[in-house]
Formats: sequence, structure tokens, C-alpha cells
Amino acid sequence: MKVIAPYFEILEDLDKQSLSIRIEACGRICYKSEDKITPESAEPFIRSIIKHGHNSVTEMAVLTLKVLYDTESIANQFFNLMPKFLLVDRIGKKELLISGSVRAFRELYQANPTVKMVKAVAEYLGSRHPLFYEDLLPERGLMKQEGVHVEKVPLEAVDALPADLLVKHRHVAVLFVVNRAITHEIVRHRPVSYLQESQRYCRYSQDKFGNEITFVKPMFFKDDSAEYSLWEKAMRDTEKIYLKLLETSSPQAARTVLPNSCKTELITFANLLEWLHIFKLRTSKGAEPSMREVMIPLLHKFQEKYPSIFDGIQAGT
Ligand SMILES: Cc1cc2nc3c(=O)[nH]c(=O)nc-3n(C[C@H](O)[C@H](O)[C@H](O)COP(=O)(O)OP(=O)(O)OC[C@H]3O[C@@H](n4cnc5c(N)ncnc54)[C@H](O)[C@@H]3O)c2cc1C
Repeated sequence: MKVIAPYFEILEDLDKQSLSIRIEACGRICYKSEDKITPESAEPFIRSIIKHGHNSVTEMAVLTLKVLYDTESIANQFFNLMPKFLLVDRIGKKELLISGSVRAFRELYQANPTVKMVKAVAEYLGSRHPLFYEDLLPERGLMKQEGVHVEKVPLEAVDALPADLLVKHRHVAVLFVVNRAITHEIVRHRPVSYLQESQRYCRYSQDKFGNEITFVKPMFFKDDSAEYSLWEKAMRDTEKIYLKLLETSSPQAARTVLPNSCKTELITFANLLEWLHIFKLRTSKGAEPSMREVMIPLLHKFQEKYPSIFDGIQAGT
């Protein structure tokens, strides 16, 4: 067995990648199949994800659009849909700022294919990102919609938005490598997209996992304490039983003996407003100590990057 300290990584590099590369990189965390990424692997991976309905993977890329329209009736028709999972702001006369994931934009069109603004957005996205729309749109794409103009807002422009818009439209992905008790708590936050290493698909007896289970060191026990020895023994015994079960059962059956201390990977993708909420709850005195162990240093990183938004939070209050 292997014992590691918990850590996190802000997935900033993915912000510079195309939507497909980003989605594949995140999606493969579930299967821990990052070794299968090649220059050609994104398209078939994404097609297969969409076909199998593993839809949360397509939440891992967010786009921000500026939509200009001629008449208020076009906007009213859109607002009457009460669009779900999109962030929408009026930023000028007859001008909207809309952010959403690939999934949110796909499902917006699936549910409302006759609404003019929705069609304009689908036409724009479908012509630039055909992979995400090939199963939804006619082969030759949609006609341009008169009276609506759609354009992409680049990430640098999103970063330059005033704080009240930045906080809603800027999304940040963080990879947590922590124990499963902590990820179980993180995933209680709802306006967030997640992908997690799956104990159903990962078989820890394989070479790529070192033929062993990785556990996260609990911060509760000192290294040379009796409690730590007991914890270590419990993990070692569990690993033996898990590996024995795998000789005759599937990973999803064998995992039933795995404990909270198992290492897992979780990508957490949310806008800054939700991160603000998460930090308030998860760095406070009442939060679980192993949660604070990762959330407090992560908050400091966010404070460096977005001081106007996060400076007001005092961890530990
Ligand atoms: C110290 C601590 C102890 C806890 N103990 C327990 C426990 O013993 N048992 C337990 O089950 N949970 C526990 N939790 C989890 C807690 O109850 C929340 O589920 C979790 O913190 C998610 O936060 P949230 O519900 O505020 O908001 P999020 O899900 O992060 O949502 C953000 C915001 O969206 C809005 N929102 C989202 N969904 C809805 C909705 N359906 N209806 C209305 N508004 C919504 C709210 O305005 C909310 O503020 C604990 C959390 C903490 C921090």
C-alpha cells in the first residue's frame, strides 16, 4: 500500500486548451486512462461519452457568449424559458452575456429548438464546434438567425469583467487528490460540475496503480502514535482483502470493503461565486479538519489570483 499527503491543483493549463482537449483531459480522470490521450483521441472519446450519456463530462468546458438582439421580444422569448444551468446578464441595451457549459448549451437547444435566440446560439456553436452538435443539428447546420448576433467572449475578456460579472461568469477547475470522506462532502455543493476517479472502473491490482491501493494520510494521528499504527494496520488488512476479492470479483464488488481513507481524485469546476460560498463554509472553524487542510491553502491561491473577490474571507472564523 502507498500512503500520500492530500493535495490540490488549480487546472489553469486547461484554460488554454481547446474545448475538446479540456473535456477529454477531465473525462479520463474517471477511468484513470490519461495514458490513452493522443493527438487524435479527443474526438472519439467525446463521441463515446455523448453516446453513452456520461453527460457530466461535457460540463467540463464553459463558454461565454455575447448575444446582441434587435427586438425585446427576442430576449423575452428566451427569458420565458427560464434557462437552466446558464448564467445570463444584461450588459447593455439589447445585449446579453451568457455563460454555460457545452452540456448546458446542448440541452438548451434540445429542449427549445424553435426559439430564435436559442437557434442563433446553436447555429454559432454548431458551426464552430461541430463535434458537440453533430447528433443534434441537421447535417448542413442551421440557418443564421436574422436579428440576433452571437460572438464568443475570450477568456482574457472574461477576466477583465467588472467584479459583479466576473464572479458569475469566470469558472475555475480544481483537482483535489484527497480521501473519499472529503470528496463526499465537497460534492454536496450543487451549482458545481464534478468528475471523480471511479472505484467501479479502476482496478487497483493493475500495474498502472502499482498493484496496490493508495491511501491518504490522516492528519488526525501523529506518525509514531498508537492510533496511527492502528490506522495503518486497518489499511493494510483492507488492501489484502480487496486484492483477494479481485481474484474472483469485479472492482465494483471488491470496492465494497474500501474505507474513507482511500485516495481519490475529484475535479471540481465552479464559478467564483460558488467558490466563495465553498470557502466560507469549508475553511471555517466548524469545517472538518482534513477539509480545511486543503481548502485553506487553496483559498490563499484564489486570494492571490482574484483579490477583489476573495480577500474578505478570513479562514478559521
Ligand atoms: C460544518 C458543516 C457541517 C455539515 N454537516 C452535515 C451533516 O451532518 N449532514 C449533512 O447531510 N450535511 C452536512 N453538511 C452539508 C451542508 O448541509 C450542505 O449540504 C453543504 O455544505 C452544501 O452547501 P449549501 O447547501 O449551502 O450550498 P450549495 O449546494 O453549495 O449551493 C450554493 C447556493 O445555491 C443555492 N441552492 C442550491 N441548491 C438549492 C436548493 N435545492 N434549494 C435552495 N437553494 C439552493 C443556495 O443559495 C446555496 O447557498 C455540513 C456542512 C458543513 C459546512
